[in-house]
Amino acid sequence: NSVIGIVGGGQLGRMSAMAAARLGFRSHVLAHTEDDPGVQVSHRATIGAYDDPDVLTRFAEAVDVVTFEFENVSADGLGLLSGIRPVHPSGAILRISQDREQEKTFLGSIGAEVAPWRLVTDHDSLRAAADALGYPFILKTTRLGYDGKGQRRVTDEAGLEAAFEALAPKPLVAEGLVDFGMEISVMVARGVDGTVRCFDVTENRHKDGILDLSFAPARIEAPLAEKARDLTRRIAEGLDLTGILGVEMFVGRNGEVLVNEIAPRPHNSGHWTMDACPVDQFEMHVRAVTGLPLPEPVRHSDAVMKNLVGPDDMALWPEIVAAQGLIPHLYGKRMARRGRKIGHVNVLFPRGGLPGEFGVQAALGPLAGDAED
Ligand code: ATP
Ligand code: MG
Ligand code: MG
Repeated sequence: NSVIGIVGGGQLGRMSAMAAARLGFRSHVLAHTEDDPGVQVSHRATIGAYDDPDVLTRFAEAVDVVTFEFENVSADGLGLLSGIRPVHPSGAILRISQDREQEKTFLGSIGAEVAPWRLVTDHDSLRAAADALGYPFILKTTRLGYDGKGQRRVTDEAGLEAAFEALAPKPLVAEGLVDFGMEISVMVARGVDGTVRCFDVTENRHKDGILDLSFAPARIEAPLAEKARDLTRRIAEGLDLTGILGVEMFVGRNGEVLVNEIAPRPHNSGHWTMDACPVDQFEMHVRAVTGLPLPEPVRHSDAVMKNLVGPDDMALWPEIVAAQGLIPHLYGKRMARRGRKIGHVNVLFPRGGLPGEFGVQAALGPLAGDAED
């Protein structure tokens, strides 16, 4: 009856705690406020700053194993936690994923392709990056970006300095704009004994920098899917992962696979597994960090996941719960701030029965958007 310590009060921790409860574990969440989604479903919570040594010590001493749903804990904080309890995934993995420069360097070291990139720290390196990459390119802060925040697209020389000034003085990476045919991701879990389990490849569509829709399986040829899963396996092994990790990738126009970024935690694009797989990404994660066996990630249905974003989607709630075939997951957030993820909906289809664009929109009922493509 171990206690799993989850750093971070958000929805990923909430759903991990719910999976942990099914396996008979208790969860203890480290959160900022009593209102956080993870606190509402956990056995106990420590409320405080994630970088306060006293808070971290109290938290770690009350649990058996520490994991994260939030990546941005300081190096000192990580050191402190791992001195008290086992931390999975490790602090070393977290540090790589916190910093786009380290992340791309690691990916290069295991032979994974990424978009061409340059480190940008001042006007000279900015100019050099623009010359090397050409326009358009993207400037991203190396740290603390999410949902497309901390990014500027630079389309021509005239916009160069303004984009830099908007993000500086933080260290930045400049990335060549990938003319991708599709965005995909793979969730991988690795156990303490080195067992690696990859879920099926997910196809992702973003809106305003935020994930909007995921399709499982991705509508790509089998060899390409195998390539993405192999690459993901290599990343998990190269990191000596224990736990779960999401790998975001671009599929280029010629079938090349470029890694965008990695996230050593459950991932939004893996939420379809909650209803389409007997063992979902959260249970797989809990099993991995507690040393339980990792079953094959079977998918019994095809699935579409649609994110609910505040405040507009909250207004649709009565229609969503009334609709046939929508499986709702709400995160219990009181404040539906603009652009904040408040929940998601899964829709299941028979295996091999993922419909085309209009079928998907029809199945989404009150959540149907404008059909693209
Ligand atoms: P997340 O919420 O996934 O952590 P993030 O803020 O870390 O987001 P990225 O994943 O780097 O941001 O980028 C967000 C989205 O912007 C990508 O999913 C993709 O749609 C687009 N994007 C990012 N980098 C590139 C690129 N080099 N070329 C083309 N599109 C890109
Ligand atoms: Mg990111
Ligand atoms: Mg991303």
